[in-house]
Amino acid sequence: MSTQPSHSQFAALDDLLEEADNWHVNAGDETIHAKRMGGKWRNIKWFSNSIWLLMFFGPYLRWNGQQAILWDIPDRQFHLFNITILPQDLWILALVLLFLAINLLAITAFSGRVWCGFLCFQTVWTDLYTWIEEKFEGTPQQRRKLDKSPVTASKFSKKLGKHTLWLVIAMLTGISFVAWFTDVYVLWSDFFVLQLSSAAWITILMFTAGTYLLAGFMREQVCMWLCPYARIQGAMVDVTTIIPTYDLHRGEPRSRKRKGVSSEQEKSGDCVDCNQCVAVCPTGVDIRQGQQEGCIMCALCIDACDAVMDKVGRPHGLIRYESLNGLEGKACPPLYKQPRLVVTGSIIFAALLGILYGLSSIDAVDLKVLHARQPLYVLQSDGSIQNKYTLKILNKLAADVKVKITATGPAGLKITSNQVVVVQHGTVTPMSVYARVPRKDLMVESQPIIFHIETMDSKEHFSSDRESVFIGPKR
Ligand code: SF4
Ligand code: SF4
Repeated sequence: MSTQPSHSQFAALDDLLEEADNWHVNAGDETIHAKRMGGKWRNIKWFSNSIWLLMFFGPYLRWNGQQAILWDIPDRQFHLFNITILPQDLWILALVLLFLAINLLAITAFSGRVWCGFLCFQTVWTDLYTWIEEKFEGTPQQRRKLDKSPVTASKFSKKLGKHTLWLVIAMLTGISFVAWFTDVYVLWSDFFVLQLSSAAWITILMFTAGTYLLAGFMREQVCMWLCPYARIQGAMVDVTTIIPTYDLHRGEPRSRKRKGVSSEQEKSGDCVDCNQCVAVCPTGVDIRQGQQEGCIMCALCIDACDAVMDKVGRPHGLIRYESLNGLEGKACPPLYKQPRLVVTGSIIFAALLGILYGLSSIDAVDLKVLHARQPLYVLQSDGSIQNKYTLKILNKLAADVKVKITATGPAGLKITSNQVVVVQHGTVTPMSVYARVPRKDLMVESQPIIFHIETMDSKEHFSSDRESVFIGPKR
């Protein structure tokens, strides 16, 4: 049951309502200057935004004297701490992408566009850019006024400072992105002496321009008109999805409560029509009109409304994370009874198992053996039988290594070709190997033979085995 606000609460409310009278709902015809307010969700948003600092500082992390995470495109290798992933292991990266994509779908089904509100680089960079804008140009009202005012020295210096800092951040974004694909220290030294490759220059320029335009100027228009995920999420959300929702049963009929008017207020809902939820919305959405395409589910309107509820002495949660079912007082089925979550959860689990298996079974040195088919064997002048094999040795170490080749199999088996070879790093080295067995020792037409390789000069010892067959004449 609603209670009448106190005198001090009325005073605070009057300020809000005055601000609401001046509020102009932006329909995309002009820049949205959203108000910034503190609160639980604002703090969570700062925390999630800071995850993107990894983008800026991640490439500086070293491991065994090398960049810990490096996409080495020219050498077609991906380094992840101790692990090197070559094109042969790309299935692991495919599983990682599947894992991330299905996670996004599952999270959307469970809680809407939380990715957009808290983690998407577009909203994160826009949030950072508007924070800088506020530092230079002031509150939303001051910014709107400044935008309409003629150019003066003061306006020019504010705009210059803001755009300079925006451009610096945009350029650092571009450089940090390229740094994941090349050694970051080499990148910086090449950058300062203007010796970067044309691919690096183009990428940095594209990222600089893209970040500056998308985060500085297009902002929420990207979320509303350019991002395909906004459309896809519409198919993932249903009445059980928990999203920021206005409790219209509690809020309506909304009423601007004023001093001295009480009887009618008793019949009104908790919404005081202050528009604070709209004022803080980075996409200009009025959440009271229901679920909307432009809502990125950042929950900043929850903070705003909770602050208003504090001022008018009402409980929090007029806007809250809630499903449409929950709003109607209906129970949502448990997660394991929701087919979308069961299916996506199963795929995520399977992908995770595959990734863990792949990472744990990646060897630094790997061996493949192909038995020559034409001819299957050759009878030698000394009476022995010779088989030819192609050995493919994959070396994922950072340097070339000497490898010793041995084989076990039928009695009297001998390898007649070179048994110590140098294999190049980061690639597969193929070689022909001949094995001979005295004919008298071949008891059956086909017998197993196991090739074994081991490194001879690397700091760590690596080895690999592969089974094949030794074939002789029919008996
Ligand atoms: S929902 Fe809350 S913040 Fe929005 S207008 Fe109503 S009282 Fe104000
Ligand atoms: S309506 Fe609320 S949750 Fe949606 S984008 Fe606006 S502030 Fe964020």
